[in-house]
Amino acid sequence: MAARHLIIGGGTAGINAIRTIREEERERSEITLVSAERPYSRMVLPYFLDRSIAESHVYTATPRILAEWGVKAHVGRRATSLDPKGSVVTLDDGKEVQVLRGELLLEGSGQLALGRSAREGAADIITFERDRRAIYRVA
Ligand SMILES: Cc1cc2nc3c(=O)[nH]c(=O)nc-3n(C[C@H](O)[C@H](O)[C@H](O)COP(=O)(O)OP(=O)(O)OC[C@H]3O[C@@H](n4cnc5c(N)ncnc54)[C@H](O)[C@@H]3O)c2cc1C
Repeated sequence: MAARHLIIGGGTAGINAIRTIREEERERSEITLVSAERPYSRMVLPYFLDRSIAESHVYTATPRILAEWGVKAHVGRRATSLDPKGSVVTLDDGKEVQVLRGELLLEGSGQLALGRSAREGAADIITFERDRRAIYRVA
């Protein structure tokens, strides 16, 4: 049975994990990505702010690339709870994603908010998806 990977968060860690899995694996695995935002790189934001790069260059993995990698993508969906016993992750639309004999990567600069395990103040963390309109106003 092919390995199954569930990756939560389409930031630098998540997208590099997917790229590395595809480069290194011998047998093609099943990869599911749950990402609250379109995959993008935080570290290029200063270049976007000073208009050195266009918004399109902030994004790291387009739907076309994700399709080429054969990733089952749930973009715009947030993982809200994790049941480690049943290996089930629930999404904010009520869907459940099961990880069987697979791997689970939780990422997000220590901000990943899963139910009550969310760290204090996580709601205040700025995200590109939520705040890019404000960025456009000041840029
Ligand atoms: C201005 C700036 C410049 C930087 N420059 C550098 C640099 O030069 N070199 C360097 O090494 N680092 C740099 N960094 C730091 C670097 O950007 C971060 O270390 C890196 O983005 C962390 O990657 P990550 O994938 O862990 O998390 P993130 O990039 O934070 O991505 C996490 C993703 O997960 C999503 N997510 C969170 N919770 C959930 C959930 N429950 N369900 C689904 N999705 C969820 C978020 O929406 C987000 O898209 C910089 C950061 C900034 C802001």
